[in-house]
Amino acid sequence: ELVNLKDKESIFRFFNDRINTYNDELNAFTEIIPDPDRTSGEGPLNGIPYALKDNILARGTKTTCGSKILSNYKSVYDATVTKRLRDSGAILMGKTNMDEFAMGSSTEFSAFGPSKNPWDANRVPGGSSGGSAAAVAAGLVPFALGSDTGGSIRQPAAFCGVVGYKPSYGLVSRYGLVAFASSLDQIGPITRCVDDAVEVAKVIIGFDPDDSTTIEHPLNFENEEPKDLTGLKFALPGEMIEYPGLQESVKEVFIKMVESIEKAGGIVEKVSIPSLKYVVATYYLIAPGEASSNLSRYDGIRYGQRKDADRYEEVVNQSRDFGFGDEVKRRILLGTFTLSAAYYDAYYRKALRVRKLISKEINEILSKYDFVINPTSPIVAPKIGEISDPLTYYLMDIYTIPANLAGLPAISLPAGAYEGLPVGFQMMARRFEDVRMLNTARILE
Ligand code: GLN
Repeated sequence: ELVNLKDKESIFRFFNDRINTYNDELNAFTEIIPDPDRTSGEGPLNGIPYALKDNILARGTKTTCGSKILSNYKSVYDATVTKRLRDSGAILMGKTNMDEFAMGSSTEFSAFGPSKNPWDANRVPGGSSGGSAAAVAAGLVPFALGSDTGGSIRQPAAFCGVVGYKPSYGLVSRYGLVAFASSLDQIGPITRCVDDAVEVAKVIIGFDPDDSTTIEHPLNFENEEPKDLTGLKFALPGEMIEYPGLQESVKEVFIKMVESIEKAGGIVEKVSIPSLKYVVATYYLIAPGEASSNLSRYDGIRYGQRKDADRYEEVVNQSRDFGFGDEVKRRILLGTFTLSAAYYDAYYRKALRVRKLISKEINEILSKYDFVINPTSPIVAPKIGEISDPLTYYLMDIYTIPANLAGLPAISLPAGAYEGLPVGFQMMARRFEDVRMLNTARILE
């Protein structure tokens, strides 16, 4: 059947069929909505199907966060992004698979099994928003939302050969996003091209009285500057390109992209971010610290599956022991330790100070350059089960974490492929210069 682009039902049927044909193999969705509401708004996304990462609430659907503890939790209200998308006419097709509570880089930490990379089903799609990236890459939905705490939109986008955009911190409401690390979390779109990311961004960005960290800072999407790369200055941190974990193949594809920027009139210069060597350690103190606090609400009483026992403490212990997976437990233990009175100064407070230092160094570079560029991930998508040591995955977040620590906008674009596996190119811009970054990304893609 040919799709009639003027007919909402015809578009819906096309994507609905694709989801039902390919999801069994890809495991991209945790929930497929059988008969989605198609009566909503006549706005700019009228009739466009989409999917939500399963840590974003949509009333009436389940929100599992990829966890056993929430496996039968039904959303009782809509996240602000969900409401905005409904008002714009977008059609919610389902919820997508993720690493449990967004902790991970591959969806292998989902309680519902890993999603598959559409380019090679033996490989991971990345994570934690891996289900969203796989769904978009396989053409099951035109766009999906993810959440990004340390790279979870951009890295899966890179592994799946699609576009992943993390907005400046404070532009998109987190109301109705299940919190992982509140000072780092940001919702953003995963799309097949930059134009689509812009259309979704226009709808989801905006001040929200329900999220006190959103900022009244209207972006001017009418502004089309820059129109070409002439004279634009791109900073390439030496520590990133010389990072020993960077695969030669990824480096090659990235360098080709750099050369094409120079050919098109852009200026690429090497810079230094001396504190880059601390970013992974800093993130893995701050994020688990916040997570240990945010996840204390899952006690089997207020939220989560309950394991019955005689005493209150036993109910909580057993519910959490049963409901959380190993990675989530690891983070809670780490976070509780670093926030404890005896170690707060030595670890958590120190991490906050290093976070300031890292932000300062990057902002200084961005006062002289338009963008910081680097590969999105040091590797291409690994095989499912290939990396079993969590620390190896943590170290690979080195390229994406800085944008979260500093609250900056960042985008991952498809840069090319190595032996059929996509490689991502990341750019990072000054805070709230999202439009300029997106316009430049559009030239580069
Ligand atoms: N891989 C990182 C982590 O495991 C990032 C996750 C994220 O951005 N949600 O914490």
